[in-house]
Amino acid sequence: MALAVFRFFEELNDFLAPPRRKREFELACAEAATVKNAIESVGVPHTEVELIVANGDSVDFGYRVRDGDRIAVYPVFEAFDITPLLRVRPEPLRDPRFIADAQLGGLARRLRMLGFDTLYDNHLPDDEIRRRAAAEHRTILTRDRQLLICRDVTHGCYVHALKPPEQLREIVERLQLGGKARPFTRCLCCNVPLQAVDKAAVLDRLPPAVARGQTQFRRCAACDRIYWPGDHFRRMRAALGEFFL
Ligand SMILES: [Zn+2]
Repeated sequence: MALAVFRFFEELNDFLAPPRRKREFELACAEAATVKNAIESVGVPHTEVELIVANGDSVDFGYRVRDGDRIAVYPVFEAFDITPLLRVRPEPLRDPRFIADAQLGGLARRLRMLGFDTLYDNHLPDDEIRRRAAAEHRTILTRDRQLLICRDVTHGCYVHALKPPEQLREIVERLQLGGKARPFTRCLCCNVPLQAVDKAAVLDRLPPAVARGQTQFRRCAACDRIYWPGDHFRRMRAALGEFFL
């Protein structure tokens, strides 16, 4: 048994039991337990951790906790560069793709609106979400930390915000998605890429005001919906303006 002192920083405290938040606390770790085991044993998913400092040195998840260790655990850094230190999480996926759990339909729809491939099916059980995430290189988005506390999850994000617009902002900021957004390129219902279509080919299906005012149209090959950059899209783009600069 090893008795170590832990301190968690910033939003990682949200996952801890109240008496352990924003202060040092002692934790009894099993013999040869890794620091990843210890961190997840208090409820913090490993996907949320960016940096671990043990007795002044940065360590990785495989570090074995020893008696008397003092361990500080930090979330994703936004404000300052930690490049010289050891990051414990894998690099973000180059081509960001997502799988959203059943509670995050509003977020999934908004990510699709920005063009991101986002799988969402509110009937998928947790083990199927994990399996498809691994097989298709998708980042899991969830408000269920237990879904992330699992050995086979490499890319995941716990979503702190409750409302879809704030959830989108949180994910775009955390994963720095702004420059990768391709708005108006993916079906909001089917998640398949849209194809450009001539106005003449869809003219008889357009409301008169749209037929007069719009020139760009795209079509979903799966459901046959027609898309154009309308008011809803413009409002969303305005709300996210800072990410597109
Ligand atoms: Zn569709």
